[in-house]
Amino acid sequence: MSVFNLDNQNVNLDNKIVAGLERLSQVFRILLWEKAKEHSLSPIQIQLLIFIRHHSADKTTISYLAQEFNFTKPTISDAIKILEQKKLIQKITDQTDTRSYTINLTTTGKKIVLETENFANPLTEIISAANDTAKIVLWENISNLIVTLNKLEIISVQRTCFNCKHYSIKNKTHFCNLLDLKLLTKDIRIDCGEFEMA
Ligand code: SF4
Repeated sequence: MSVFNLDNQNVNLDNKIVAGLERLSQVFRILLWEKAKEHSLSPIQIQLLIFIRHHSADKTTISYLAQEFNFTKPTISDAIKILEQKKLIQKITDQTDTRSYTINLTTTGKKIVLETENFANPLTEIISAANDTAKIVLWENISNLIVTLNKLEIISVQRTCFNCKHYSIKNKTHFCNLLDLKLLTKDIRIDCGEFEMA
């Protein structure tokens, strides 16, 4: 039975939560479109610029970006080609394999990131106003949901503690062996620069 059938939705909390998440997913699309229009770019082009700005070179290949954003390689290649034509990125060719390259932002590309990467701020402001207990519960549920969706192969790349080789459970608590740090719920990461697949 569909959660979008109002007869099902309004008598069942599970269905309302799922319908609510669908409504929330629209928020990012709407906010991103506003920025995209301002800069005559598409939402995915802006997402690519922001991602490249904040991740290491090994995560800026066409293959990695396609997996990260759940697009085909030709779609990502086309977006990258346009960003290059607009002089927002430059390709760095691999010395050992001239068919491969990673991607750097140009100075103009970095400027566009500065002007667009705050697109989610309206949502951040709402979350900031919530109390700490509510935030921890929300974070625990969101991070668990992401891990479950990843296991079901609905969400692809996940650089979360729960998939990381440095993660363990010590004395019944989450622990990062690399950082030698006890991880409270609020410390669990979903995109860690030090992540290594378990
Ligand atoms: S390295 Fe990062 S992702 Fe891995 S367990 Fe430590 S904090 Fe989590």
